[in-house]
Amino acid sequence: MSLLFSSTNRRAPSVDLKGALLQGQAPDRGLYMPERFPRLQPAELERFRAMPYATIAFEVLRRYAGDVIDEELLRTLCEDAYDFEVPLEPVRDRVHVMRLDRGPTASFKDFAARMMARLIGHFVRSDGRELTILTATSGDTGSAVASAFHGVAGIRVCVLFPIDEVSTRQRKQMTTLGGNIRTIAVDGKFDDCQAMVKRAFADEALAGVPLSSANSINIGRLLPQSVYYLYAWSRLAEPGEPLLVVVPSGNFGNMMGAMFARKMGMPLRRLVVPVNENDEFPKFLATTDYRKIEPSVACLSNAMNVGHPSNLARLVDLYGGQLDETGVVHRAPDFAAMRRDLFSSSVSDEATRETIRSAWERHGLLLEPHGAVGWRGLLDYEAVEPLAGAPAVVVETAHPAKFPDEIRKLLGIEPEVPASLARLDELPETYDRMGADYDAFREYVRTHYA
Ligand SMILES: *Cc1c(COP(=O)(O)O)cnc(C)c1O
Repeated sequence: MSLLFSSTNRRAPSVDLKGALLQGQAPDRGLYMPERFPRLQPAELERFRAMPYATIAFEVLRRYAGDVIDEELLRTLCEDAYDFEVPLEPVRDRVHVMRLDRGPTASFKDFAARMMARLIGHFVRSDGRELTILTATSGDTGSAVASAFHGVAGIRVCVLFPIDEVSTRQRKQMTTLGGNIRTIAVDGKFDDCQAMVKRAFADEALAGVPLSSANSINIGRLLPQSVYYLYAWSRLAEPGEPLLVVVPSGNFGNMMGAMFARKMGMPLRRLVVPVNENDEFPKFLATTDYRKIEPSVACLSNAMNVGHPSNLARLVDLYGGQLDETGVVHRAPDFAAMRRDLFSSSVSDEATRETIRSAWERHGLLLEPHGAVGWRGLLDYEAVEPLAGAPAVVVETAHPAKFPDEIRKLLGIEPEVPASLARLDELPETYDRMGADYDAFREYVRTHYA
């Protein structure tokens, strides 16, 4: 028996994990959600304490996969995907920073992308098919996805990125791969790129092109992201003890991983989801009035420059509401429950810089802008509700070496560059350029992938 996934828009048939992974977005333009959450009993959670990361990943994912994939194969894929460390750095009292930046592209997105690439590659090959992955990125998704799928047989990848919003290293992580990976630099914002990709999925004229998405709208991106919260809990909390989790957020895919972990049985004290100056979510929580931010504000934490988070529909769905892809709330979620479970503040660029400085001076904690938004979010939360000895984890989502100029300016030090990034400086780049023009993009897809 396999667990089924249904669309948040409720007008598409339910599918199993394979169907959800290969389709990405549901045909009614909604997002897939599990119809129920597999429950981890307290005794099972206790066993996680002694398990390596890859084994916890297997234990979590097999419960969503059911019989769509052989268990031994899944175990191998997990071990292959998670062959890097997941450091939990002690900072003060029982507060830790979890560094999710040790994968090949030095961003937390490696965790999901590497698992999803292996699963999708397996499903496509076993059907004897080919598939094109279209993805929009504001910095780190594209490189994680491109790296994860690079060289995977049966899969081609096309990444769109806003030309002026990604750093040189982020760009090079995508444009130096070649092979089955194509990249398009769009003269526009991340939201334009995301809109072009979303339209392509819904476009009748492209119905003959086998397309899928690897954005955080794909449920295959979310499930692996619940694993590191369970891992952190197993290392930092006492039996049954709730953990405070802080996730700097943009499209709200990472934080949904923590919500899923909670639904599976992980004791969660509160989920703190700070954002940058794109503050539509804390405002929504405070006022119950949802207003997307168009265009999104360009902040230092560029991977979080999102004015209408694509996973918000999933969060609203968990709380009994309905939000469609255009940002219209059809049914209000239970705001009282949302406010009990979640805390969100907006962190300005100025506060982000100040936090990078103070975390370094006070704790010797090296943060890049996204992690700094996270750390500041913890401080904002503590100002309202002191931790009082409770364990907490803040996730650092990218490696500080991805933001060398900022770190140099603020701290006067040179962050050590991981080998995976250092290599990029020598490699040649290739990418195409395009305006934020859907018709041109449709032609491009037809030319290269039909
Ligand atoms: C993508 C990204 C985020 C935001 O994650 P969401 O799942 O979109 O909320 C934060 N930090 C970094 C470095 C990222 O790449």
